[in-house]
Amino acid sequence: MLIKTAIAWSVHGRISYFYVLEMKTICIIGGGFSGTVTAIHLLQKSSDVRVKLINHTYPLVKGVAYSTGRMEHLLNVPAGKMSAFASLPDHFTDWVTAKPEYKQFHFPTIRHSFLPRMIYGKYLEELSAEHLKNERLEIIRSKAVDVKSANGKYVIITENDHRIESDFLVLATGNFQPAPPKLKDPSALSSPNYFSNPWTNDFIEKLKPDESVLLIGSGLTMVDYVLTLVAEGFRGKIYSVSPRGYLPEGHSEQVTAYPDFLEEIKGKGLQSVFSSIISHVQKAAEKNIPWQSVIDSVRPHAKTVWMGLSRKDKQQFISHVRHIWGVARHRLPLDAHKKIRELMQSGQLEVIGGRLQALNSINDSFEAFIKLRRVQDVKTLAVSKIVNCTGPQINFNELNEALVKSLLQQDLISADELKMGIRALPSGNALNSKAEPVPRLYALGSLLRGLMWETTAVPDLRVNAENVAAQIIGSID
Ligand SMILES: Cc1cc2nc3c(=O)[nH]c(=O)nc-3n(C[C@H](O)[C@H](O)[C@H](O)COP(=O)(O)OP(=O)(O)OC[C@H]3O[C@@H](n4cnc5c(N)ncnc54)[C@H](O)[C@@H]3O)c2cc1C
Repeated sequence: MLIKTAIAWSVHGRISYFYVLEMKTICIIGGGFSGTVTAIHLLQKSSDVRVKLINHTYPLVKGVAYSTGRMEHLLNVPAGKMSAFASLPDHFTDWVTAKPEYKQFHFPTIRHSFLPRMIYGKYLEELSAEHLKNERLEIIRSKAVDVKSANGKYVIITENDHRIESDFLVLATGNFQPAPPKLKDPSALSSPNYFSNPWTNDFIEKLKPDESVLLIGSGLTMVDYVLTLVAEGFRGKIYSVSPRGYLPEGHSEQVTAYPDFLEEIKGKGLQSVFSSIISHVQKAAEKNIPWQSVIDSVRPHAKTVWMGLSRKDKQQFISHVRHIWGVARHRLPLDAHKKIRELMQSGQLEVIGGRLQALNSINDSFEAFIKLRRVQDVKTLAVSKIVNCTGPQINFNELNEALVKSLLQQDLISADELKMGIRALPSGNALNSKAEPVPRLYALGSLLRGLMWETTAVPDLRVNAENVAAQIIGSID
């Protein structure tokens, strides 16, 4: 029920009464895909709410992932699964095929193709443009640094001391910058040749074509960088280091669906889940179905399986299995995979399994000491530039974010048992440290990684965004 307020009105000496509907305000912190799509659903589901969307650093709606200006940065999810709306699965592919300027992508297999993320960014920009003009939506371009809760309202404070009062609060803060490498002496990290944020392009502009570069990490961000370096004609040596030296696997050329086997793995322990997956990979191979199809059939259920695991199993997964699952699940489009293999064969790219142990900054370059994984040896590299490509920070305790610290201190949010994000109900309603729902406070996206594990890609986020909006509107009505 919307609150109805009686107003006294004097007409020709008489007092008449009528009611006005008090509009509820919903403030969303973070205007990437998650925050913006939540705002769109809120505005569509009710004409009695106002939305205030606070965003900083990355472009509205596109966020980190889709604001790249580089055509070689591809989606890692097939276009057919990238519609912004779960109920309209062809929304994105239909949009692309209606655009003559993207004619080169109008192939019959577009649903299975990996298109440039830049094109996806344009899609998001276009689909949100009308909604962003809505007079019930206010966009605040600033960083939220604090929140106070009093008298049933939240007051969000931005870095320029703007105060925004709201009835509901949605946290959609997305991907936090990678954690810095753990070094005894971190002073070299203050060198201008060390780049802590891999999602800005300033590094590429500063690199000379024959220098050598160290990319810390060997996942999808590293691949983005390598492809950009090659596209820019970089001829120098590229090192990539990660604890295990695993590279993302490639997607399969063959697109064959593998039958769903959720019932077999739901509610089972980690060991049993993985034995089932391995046995299905073997069965698939007997039928000439690639292992990728088995992973793809598990992928939509990863959240359900994760939520059924014990805390111990979740910890085991994080320590021992996460990287294997990561390379199998976060796969590369075939062309990108082929290019990376070619660069490794030519020797331009060297992927090292080990840990960056120490770093010296000498004049304009670095001496990097890598403790190798398999042998008791340390490899020394001389490199001109270093980029941290380790992926978003997932250790919640080590986050250096004023907003998160303040919310934790006030017990408006609490870290989940694995310290990867916050405790919440499956609806996204935040829980405090006593596991009590915090009134009118919701979260989605990466913040729910500990709860749902798979909560960072569009196929999951679009569902979360719609659910959070429905929960809020449902609680008002
Ligand atoms: C390089 C890269 C490539 C990816 N590729 C794909 C892909 O191909 N397919 C796929 O499905 N997923 C992909 N992802 C996952 C991607 O994270 C999601 O698809 C989606 O973009 C996440 O959106 P988000 O809104 O949750 O977070 P983000 O995009 O990170 O947006 C969060 C926004 O909130 C802002 N913000 C944070 N804190 C505050 C604050 N205190 N005050 C104000 N604003 C704040 C941030 O600055 C940012 O603008 C990729 C991720 C990365 C990093």
